Amino acid sequence: MKLSDILNSASKPLYSCEFFPPRTDKGEENLWNCLKELQAINPAYISVTYGAGGTTQDRTKGIVTRIKDETGLSPVAHLTCVGASKDELATLLADYRAAGIENILALRGDAPEGMDRFEAAAGGFSYATDLIAFLREQGDFSIACATYPEGHPESKGGVADDIRYLKMKQDNGADCAITQYFFDNETFFRFRDQCEKAGITLPIIPGIMPVGNFEQIVRFSSMCGAVIPAWLHDKMTPIQRELDAVKAMGIELAAKQCRELLEAGAPGLHIYTLNKPEATIAIHRQIKDLL
Ligand SMILES: Cc1cc2nc3c(=O)[nH]c(=O)nc-3n(C[C@H](O)[C@H](O)[C@H](O)COP(=O)(O)OP(=O)(O)OC[C@H]3O[C@@H](n4cnc5c(N)ncnc54)[C@H](O)[C@@H]3O)c2cc1C
Repeated sequence: MKLSDILNSASKPLYSCEFFPPRTDKGEENLWNCLKELQAINPAYISVTYGAGGTTQDRTKGIVTRIKDETGLSPVAHLTCVGASKDELATLLADYRAAGIENILALRGDAPEGMDRFEAAAGGFSYATDLIAFLREQGDFSIACATYPEGHPESKGGVADDIRYLKMKQDNGADCAITQYFFDNETFFRFRDQCEKAGITLPIIPGIMPVGNFEQIVRFSSMCGAVIPAWLHDKMTPIQRELDAVKAMGIELAAKQCRELLEAGAPGLHIYTLNKPEATIAIHRQIKDLL
């Protein structure tokens, strides 16, 4: 089903999940088991990342096609500008159309490994705003985009830049935005208010990262610019070697965060699953009265 139709017809907030394409057969088997388990909570859509830095791209196509054909879930294929010319992107989008894939999360992407900053490919795009405009010309896709309540690490003008570019993404044809993960809801609420003042009307769906391994989240956050607040450090640092305790605490904190977001009118929640179903299902269980 198209993302725009899912969003327009929703009478309650949406609960959706993100996966990455595994690199091994065992990882792939784990992914399908995970998706089977998640069917019990009927996620509104499943998004599949497009190899960070331009890797695992073919796997994204294979996985979203299989999700559509075999699970009855609605897939969203992430797509980046990394390493691809317009012609190459057009070929991939033709494949998606032929496979009946209707939803694309359009991103610029990050620099591939070994490069210290993003550079557009020859004949390619420099920004997600351009990719979104191109996607609109390429067929009847429903388009999601990314946004950053704490500011994208490369945004020279801080969050104000991100709001300006989000408005451009909306004007160029994005149907909704999914945020980078954050841990302090106040940041999201401030961002949402500023977006509203800037004329942004598309649904802004908070991205939620349940902490399952604190050291890993500290590492991710240093790369993507997400802030780890002092209160989270204080809770996690004393238990960080006890993985079961971290996971349990991660679920409790994420469920509390999700509840507060939904009670304050968030149109949905997008869970970064890291290809593990347990936290996603446990959080859903705790907030299902609001979904
Ligand atoms: C929900 C979500 C999903 C993601 N999925 C993936 C994935 O599958 N694969 C992957 O590799 N990465 C993924 N990422 C990471 C993303 O690729 C990086 O954050 C990347 O650095 C920026 O991508 P973007 O689409 O937000 O870029 P853009 O919106 O293009 O922004 C990049 C930078 O350029 C600036 N900018 C934006 N538009 C313009 C413009 N028109 N003119 C001048 N400056 C501009 C922005 O301020 C920002 O600093 C994801 C991120 C999120 C939040």
